[in-house]
Amino acid sequence: MAAAPQECDLAVVGGGILGLAVARELTRRRPGLDAVVLEHGAAVAGGQTGSNSGVIHAGIYYMPGSLKARLCVEGAREMYEFCEAKGIEHERCGKLIVARDESELGRLDELERRGHENQVPGLRRLSAGEISEIEPHCRGAAALHSPNTGIVDFAAVARALAQELSDAGTPVALEHGIRSVSAGNGRIALTHAEGETRARFAVFCAGTGSDKLAVAAGAPADPRIVPFRGAYLYLKPDKAPLVRSMIYPVPDPSLPFLGVHLTRHVGGHVSLGPTALLAPRSVGDLLWPGTIRMGLKWWRTGITEIRHRFSKRTLAKAAADYVPELGPEDFDGGFAGRRAQALGRDGKLVDDFVVSETERALHVRNAPSPAATSSFALARLIADRAEPGLD
Ligand SMILES: Cc1cc2nc3c(=O)[nH]c(=O)nc-3n(C[C@H](O)[C@H](O)[C@H](O)COP(=O)(O)OP(=O)(O)OC[C@H]3O[C@@H](n4cnc5c(N)ncnc54)[C@H](O)[C@@H]3O)c2cc1C
Repeated sequence: MAAAPQECDLAVVGGGILGLAVARELTRRRPGLDAVVLEHGAAVAGGQTGSNSGVIHAGIYYMPGSLKARLCVEGAREMYEFCEAKGIEHERCGKLIVARDESELGRLDELERRGHENQVPGLRRLSAGEISEIEPHCRGAAALHSPNTGIVDFAAVARALAQELSDAGTPVALEHGIRSVSAGNGRIALTHAEGETRARFAVFCAGTGSDKLAVAAGAPADPRIVPFRGAYLYLKPDKAPLVRSMIYPVPDPSLPFLGVHLTRHVGGHVSLGPTALLAPRSVGDLLWPGTIRMGLKWWRTGITEIRHRFSKRTLAKAAADYVPELGPEDFDGGFAGRRAQALGRDGKLVDDFVVSETERALHVRNAPSPAATSSFALARLIADRAEPGLD
């Protein structure tokens, strides 16, 4: 296991895809930079990076001009390049966003408009009849086809990044969870199980722990991370051929979630999910004024999510809306991840990526999907903001 230095130029907290991409970006820009990645877990990618849909998003959904829109389109291109260069298994298998009936066509139009404005490559509208040319078992009133959407195991990408950093002399120190933070005298001090690391600058990419570390470094408590559990079911292998690539619903535009979808993964299995059920870390998350305000506004959606969580039948119904041949008996096993979603005191789920500053540090306060896809591009933006702190 790599040890953490007592003194260094740069400390990156969090060995998920984003922290590793930030460390790579800054050490490539500044040869000789003395950097370390400090990770709480016993392996990299143990957080969101290791339990997600594994989709390289093309950039369709996001508000034109937002960070998500810009960084997803750039990031997807770089993610494909990285996977090709490193020989990481991936597939540009494409995806459909399907309107079930006429009531969803207006929202599909809006997605199509956003996708074109965001310069998503190859985006194409399909009629009801054309859907089956892409997905023979799928039904709907119309769809968008995005041929540039793909799949990868983001944990494999994170492992390749960690290897590249180690090979270049940047230690990735595992089981080095940061317990306290203090800045002063031109240094930021981070305490962990092995003692203390003092850096000229730190970047925090700590997923579900990001708000607590930011507050420890002197940042405001707003927004707070309120995790959502995202559970998936696996399609039994004999039914997997019913889904060639990915089938997504038209999402509710007022929520930052893409809805329950059928996704092929590298290796061939197909999942259905994720659910999006509040998974508080503590009573404090539940008592956060934003959580209460969100609960009052979204209680109906919450009930649907509770039903998805506890009833395989209800979740499977979401698949049958698109692939009528699928029933609850076709699913077996699955996995779950926890989204680090920022929630404002006003009860609004923060939609875009958020990076904020404290003395001698930057904090990623909101990096939900598509942050894995966007990780190289988001890392560049973070590095631009971190560089003055390293001079
Ligand atoms: C269910 C689900 C589905 C998703 N689907 C997609 C998708 O298809 N495509 C996509 O692009 N994105 C997707 N995402 C989002 C994507 O997974 C995340 O945006 C991305 O992984 C964020 O990376 P990260 O490095 O910021 O966070 P993480 O991977 O969560 O890494 C944070 C790291 O910080 C460490 N840490 C925490 N506290 C401390 C501490 N005190 N000291 C040291 N280390 C600490 C954790 O152990 C962890 O390893 C999905 C997310 C979920 C949960």
